Amino acid sequence: MQSTMQDAPLLISGIIRHGEYVYSEKKVFTVTPEGVEEATFFQISKRAEQLAAALTKLGVQRGDRVATFMWNNQAHMEAYFAVPCMGAVLHTLNIRLFPEQLAFIINHAEDSVIIVDSSLVPALAKIRDQIPTVKHIIVHGPDDSGLLGATIDYETFLSAESAGFEWPELDERSAAIMCYTSGTTGNPKGVVYSHRSTWLHSMASTTSNSIGLSERDRCLLIVPMFHVNAWGAAYTAFFAGTELIMPQMFLQGEPIIKMIRELRPTVSLGVPTIWNDVLRVAENNPSADLSSLRGIVAGGAAVPRVMIEAFRDRFGIDVIQGWGMTETSPLAAVSIPPSGAPSDVQIDYRVKAGRVVAGVEVRVTADDGTVLPRDGKTVGEFEIRGPWITGSYFGVDAPERFHDGWLRTGDIGSMDGEGFMTISDRSKDVIKSGGEWISSVDLEGALMAHPAVFEAAVIAVPDDRWQERPLCCVVLRPGASASADELREFLSTRVAKWWLPERWAFIESVPKTSVGKFDKKVLRAGYAEDELPYETLA
Ligand code: ADP
Repeated sequence: MQSTMQDAPLLISGIIRHGEYVYSEKKVFTVTPEGVEEATFFQISKRAEQLAAALTKLGVQRGDRVATFMWNNQAHMEAYFAVPCMGAVLHTLNIRLFPEQLAFIINHAEDSVIIVDSSLVPALAKIRDQIPTVKHIIVHGPDDSGLLGATIDYETFLSAESAGFEWPELDERSAAIMCYTSGTTGNPKGVVYSHRSTWLHSMASTTSNSIGLSERDRCLLIVPMFHVNAWGAAYTAFFAGTELIMPQMFLQGEPIIKMIRELRPTVSLGVPTIWNDVLRVAENNPSADLSSLRGIVAGGAAVPRVMIEAFRDRFGIDVIQGWGMTETSPLAAVSIPPSGAPSDVQIDYRVKAGRVVAGVEVRVTADDGTVLPRDGKTVGEFEIRGPWITGSYFGVDAPERFHDGWLRTGDIGSMDGEGFMTISDRSKDVIKSGGEWISSVDLEGALMAHPAVFEAAVIAVPDDRWQERPLCCVVLRPGASASADELREFLSTRVAKWWLPERWAFIESVPKTSVGKFDKKVLRAGYAEDELPYETLA
């Protein structure tokens, strides 16, 4: 029997129309060196129509890739809507990739147009002669450098067109956006989101069991729009009526504290590294005022317990941990303590990676593929499936990443009977000592609880007797001191005795990936090349 429901396609144009019609006066704030610029959702919607008309005149057709090489700002939002809604494919380029990787992904995606912020022109110019598919470059902001040869000025381009471009009725399963993984191993791989997957992911992000963005929120979007669509928040904002604050290049603790004080966001999204920096600045800055925040969303890497405690105890702010990956759009699990959880155990939930979001399914599997119990103890690899989880990579065969229709995440951990996921490691970071696993994530979390430790990253190094052992790379707080002995002693009450590391390196800072996560690959290479001095305790 057929249902009697209408069959409306789930399109991104539906998201922008909703934002324009229902939340027309809501605003997007862009922080610039000269001050804060504002635009309403209505204005952004109209400018997106102008951009789509201009791109059409330029020759952009359905399915063509239009890339952005931009900070988080208003013009980037305009491209976010114009490109997919007109039927082309938005490719958000990571501005921090190495030039070879950047050229690789532009060529792999066969981008035909790039919209670039003027401050990023020099970075793009480095590879201009290596990207033959790119026919036009549109520069947002003043640029008379001439570094890119002939370019189009964004404002002139828009102002030649009037609003009123009619968004076409597209197949909801057609490509809307593409994003490459940051390529921690090998070349980056492309993930292509559809209109439908983006629509469903945006809807899920408005639910209060997820990050619950709503009309009552103003969101400071620190996570870059090239890092999995700013975790989807740019689209969710127009669905939910959530105002956005776009920090552009001002991503350090000081300017973020100032933005929070002056623009009063209720929620903010970023990786733990950023939150650690915000905390460091806020703790020493009497004028810091974080009182507008109902919560901060931290994800992309494990969030240390000490950070969650510090935000709660010193600023009364809840840290909401999220888990996901480029392949999962990304939001797949969000850690909110179950109702009625006594206050003393709430934090035990917040340190978990997250609780599975409605709409996706997660399971834990053993090496041989069997499904393991959800008992909160048994450890295996997480596998995931659902309508906003990728089923393949763009233009590459990677059968080893899929298993019976599930995506293999490469994340190792356990899941409890209430759907909370605990991640102990990425498979490439696990430490296998004497046949047993030591969790680098747990060691790092325990170390960062020491008052003298600012950051800690733990890698596996070869060991004659145990096969592998942990090497702790520690960054001390400015002015603080702690010896390897003292830190080991500190760990001894917090982790199993056989985990206690012998090898200790004190470093200036932990190297970071292009999206601000600990880059253990660089630490491992440093160790392999004897460039990471360390001491060994008895
Ligand atoms: P990359 O793979 O280049 O780091 P992604 O941003 O797609 O790019 O990273 C996804 C990975 O980040 C996940 O597979 C997981 O290992 C890690 N991750 C994301 N969120 C969390 C979290 N809350 N806790 C621990 N690890 C996380």
